[in-house]
Amino acid sequence: MNLKFHNQQKGLMLVLSSPSGAGKTSIAQGLIKADPSLRMSISVTTRPKRQNEIDGVDYNFVDVKTFKKMQQRGELLEYATVFDHLYGTPRAEVKETLTAGYDIVFDIDWQGAQQITKNAVEDVVKVFILPPTTEELEKRLKKRAQDTNKVVATRMEKASSEMTHWAEYDYVLINDNLEQTVNQVLKILVAERLRQHRQIGIEEFVKNLTRARS
Ligand code: 5GP
Repeated sequence: MNLKFHNQQKGLMLVLSSPSGAGKTSIAQGLIKADPSLRMSISVTTRPKRQNEIDGVDYNFVDVKTFKKMQQRGELLEYATVFDHLYGTPRAEVKETLTAGYDIVFDIDWQGAQQITKNAVEDVVKVFILPPTTEELEKRLKKRAQDTNKVVATRMEKASSEMTHWAEYDYVLINDNLEQTVNQVLKILVAERLRQHRQIGIEEFVKNLTRARS
């Protein structure tokens, strides 16, 4: 009898990076809404919480002492200083999510992307998001209105240096239209999940197929 192939995939780690304000957080939210097999990685940070953010949902907000302890105990998969604050990805949650059969989305900067790639190159897919123009980037940062003018100015300054890292990514998208960008990432996910090394049991399946024919 010829057994049907049940496509079971190895968990994938989707890294989204961009300069602050390019729309990465909205893209990540759009992805989670559209694809039930995706889960968001919730980072820990020492940055103060913005008004519209929820502790435990957008980030786990911690003090520097707690962050450093996590770092020393090896509880962070990656970490970096961004805009004078500490950000990191808790290792245990990532493992749990992947083990439970979900793919996981990371909204992290280029430093974190480099560290994750070093540890799990086979499982990582990296997407860099660019704003359509510098003016649009500034407009979006100002619209957020959660940050002070000084913060917006610093983030604009840093944007150029962050964007120099675009070539380290597998895919580069220009976020001109949120819906379109979300759809493009969903298509990337479809293709990446079909990569042969992510399809558990495909080798056995092909063996069975060829056996059935001979
Ligand atoms: P924001 O303060 O605007 O939420 O984030 C600032 C920057 O930090 C963004 O580029 C975001 O992707 C990055 N970031 C957020 N969480 C992490 C993390 O866990 N690790 C690293 N390396 N970067 C992060």
